Amino acid sequence: MKNPVQRSGNRCRVRSFSMAVLLVVFIAALQLRADEPYARARDYDLQHSRIALRFDLEQRKVLGDVTHSLAILREGTSKIWFDSVGLTIESVTVNKSPAKFETTADKLIVPLPAAAKAGDKFEVAIRYQGKPTKGMYFILPDKDYPDRPRQIWTQGESEDTRFYLPTYDYPNDRLTTETILTVPGTWITVSNGKLVSVSDAGKGLKTWTWRESLPSSTYLITVVAGEFDEAKDFWRGIPVTYFAPKGRGDRLPINYSHTPAMIDLFSKKLGVDYPWEKYAQVMVDDFVAGGMENSSATTNTSSSLNHPKIAAELYTDEDGLISHELGHQWFGDLVTCKDWGDIWLNEGFATFMESVWTEGHYGKDQADFERWDGMREWMGQANLFNKPIVRHDFDDSSEFDGNAYTKGGLVLHMLRQQLGDDAFYPALKHYLEVNRGKNVVTGDLAKALEESSHTNVDQFFSQWLYGAGAPKFDLSYSYDQDKHQVALTVKQTQKVEGRVGIFRVPVGVEITTASGHKLYEIPVSKAEQVFTFPADSAPLMVLFDKGGHILKSAEFHKEKKEWLYQLKNAAEFADRADATMALEKIKNDEEVVSALGATLRSDKSWGLRATAADALGRIGGTTAAKQLLDALNSANEPWVRYRIVYALGNFKDDASIAVKLTAIAKDDNSYRARAAALQDLGRLKSPGALATLEAAVSSDSPDGYLRNAALRALGPFGDDKAVPLLQQWSAPGKPIEARTGAIRSLASLEKGNQDITKQIAGYLSEPHFPVRMAALFALGGRGDATAIPALEALLKNNDLSIEMVPMIKEQIVRLKKPAGGKTPAGGEGEESAAGNGAGSEKGGDSAAVLQRLEKLEHLVQEMNERLKSFETRLPPPKP
Ligand SMILES: [Zn+2]
Repeated sequence: MKNPVQRSGNRCRVRSFSMAVLLVVFIAALQLRADEPYARARDYDLQHSRIALRFDLEQRKVLGDVTHSLAILREGTSKIWFDSVGLTIESVTVNKSPAKFETTADKLIVPLPAAAKAGDKFEVAIRYQGKPTKGMYFILPDKDYPDRPRQIWTQGESEDTRFYLPTYDYPNDRLTTETILTVPGTWITVSNGKLVSVSDAGKGLKTWTWRESLPSSTYLITVVAGEFDEAKDFWRGIPVTYFAPKGRGDRLPINYSHTPAMIDLFSKKLGVDYPWEKYAQVMVDDFVAGGMENSSATTNTSSSLNHPKIAAELYTDEDGLISHELGHQWFGDLVTCKDWGDIWLNEGFATFMESVWTEGHYGKDQADFERWDGMREWMGQANLFNKPIVRHDFDDSSEFDGNAYTKGGLVLHMLRQQLGDDAFYPALKHYLEVNRGKNVVTGDLAKALEESSHTNVDQFFSQWLYGAGAPKFDLSYSYDQDKHQVALTVKQTQKVEGRVGIFRVPVGVEITTASGHKLYEIPVSKAEQVFTFPADSAPLMVLFDKGGHILKSAEFHKEKKEWLYQLKNAAEFADRADATMALEKIKNDEEVVSALGATLRSDKSWGLRATAADALGRIGGTTAAKQLLDALNSANEPWVRYRIVYALGNFKDDASIAVKLTAIAKDDNSYRARAAALQDLGRLKSPGALATLEAAVSSDSPDGYLRNAALRALGPFGDDKAVPLLQQWSAPGKPIEARTGAIRSLASLEKGNQDITKQIAGYLSEPHFPVRMAALFALGGRGDATAIPALEALLKNNDLSIEMVPMIKEQIVRLKKPAGGKTPAGGEGEESAAGNGAGSEKGGDSAAVLQRLEKLEHLVQEMNERLKSFETRLPPPKP
């Protein structure tokens, strides 16, 4: 029961605003899905599917020929049904004889000639075609974007494979596949398993045949075809391949080259070698998620193909996304949740595997930093607190939430911490081995852990997985000089209700005195307890949960000098970071400010330096500003620099800072720092900043990085003079990322100008998903009710995905609300902002709005990175 560890989480960085829009959509979409929570009863076992697809690009159509080999499970089964939505079934044969069939809105039903016996085998062949509204996506050039590389890709999870393939579409069945794709001769295809052959199909076409011989679930089937560049690598002779949309192949190595080392580390740590015949990662445009772990063939967003100059400024590169999807190849693909209620067995483990890579490659401090950040973020999301990780009541929300991901990963860390590495990893190996190729529920993990480690985990599972919440501690201690004793009072203050109880956790307490330090383990189990420890003299430092392993919040009543000592002397990241947060609350104190300044300049962990920069920004005042400015002179790492610059955006009334920010925006070694300075200038509404922002819009930078930042900043900046520029950059033909930022900013200017509303409404019917979403939410935030008819007309479009409808309705509701309800531009999504501390209270409406905006901006920046490791349930881009 020891060994400190970590968890993964935020790597903060500025990214495109289209990602911010996606974030908003992600939050909205979360509330709208309703997947089947429990696994279905099965009449048959689908064993193998031969899936032959052709495509009509003009029509965005799929022409399919699928043969399912299945065995009857239920005695007396007389009909076979498949999930099938929006597909036109042309013919069906059963064992090669023509068969009758019927279709409903979401099923294809094939009657059998007679009631079947259990074990009877059938071959059901289905010829069909369709224009999928989900599940399969066509990315094609158009008049505004004539050079776009052509791409067709699929996204099955959670229940969307049925939109392009009639099949059994629920995780609790597994099958092998043969995927036969006939595409233009210059295209590349990627699917599950091994590439068997590429043959000439006449008329300039080629047929690619892929075969997957390890069974997996239908949501993990993938089809990608199009104009791609390829790069190749190997791990122990297994092909490791990477694909980028044509023209961006040179970005593959810099962003993806850690993959073989990751496969190696995971294989060794888990004691189970990478199980599939190859590992491909295909980066596609307009992807509806960050990444998707299709068996042996992950699909990721092409926004992970950073420009080399931007990639060089990212501390952990794209490793969060890459390690998450790779981790799924074991947890999710080899061993699959039986139902969506147990999705944390996929997502919690994938999140945990991110941290395994982080710790292995970047070291413990980085892993600790990410875990500490993840904990704070999770504790800040009140909507998650009362829900257990394992739950089957997600009608009104999504099962793919911060409990399945962040908390799931943190819970696995606690298990690792409590069992110790020597017991934990062999137990994971056992879990993977006994469940290999099977579907699992949470109980299967408990059983495997017990079988391997001989530790009873029932109570642990009961409170952390079937129960909800986490402990909120109130802590204080006293020292008795006569008894030479420290008495630590531990109170649990979380509201005990529903599934939230009093927690039973083993906690490491470290007492440091002048003569050294000693670690104790205490069994916390009640609402209030007092623990005593020997101590030869009054303690210099008392640490509760040393190293920060338990998911919790803690209010530890300590004196300033103790926090200062802890900031300087605590060995572990989490304890120094906690000290930073506690010290931040002490205002107008030179000693605190200078201690945080020292941390900012010289802590060994960059994450702590960044945390100190944030704290100084929130403390404010001239001495805090001076610390930040001084640190900026020596902080050359772009990941630190960017955070310092961002913190400087808090100093509203300091003209010298505006001057400094202007200088950074114009010239700095770090693009991330320059982008942060541009956003600061917008937030601060610095007089005279318009020229700087406009210059940045017309400047050249990698992938328009600075332009996009400036376009986003012009909204909060709030000067109507920017309208023509924003109109220009909102227009079709401009880069999509520039457009989404420009549209959002445009919506917050000249609010009375209905022509602007009309212009934005015009983008609602565009084929580009991010533009459409940006326009939709921009209109909702603009508050001009004249947009309502356009939104209502949009509702009548028949090409909308199911999820888009409620989002449109939501914007209509916003616009129908009487004026006065404060809705800052771009404020949709702030409901999940985990902001702590209100910052400086200046009073007045605009200050409040600015604060909310600030929070949102920060949230967006923090979330952007995380977003990519979520398989979000985003609606599809519409053709
Ligand atoms: Zn995942």
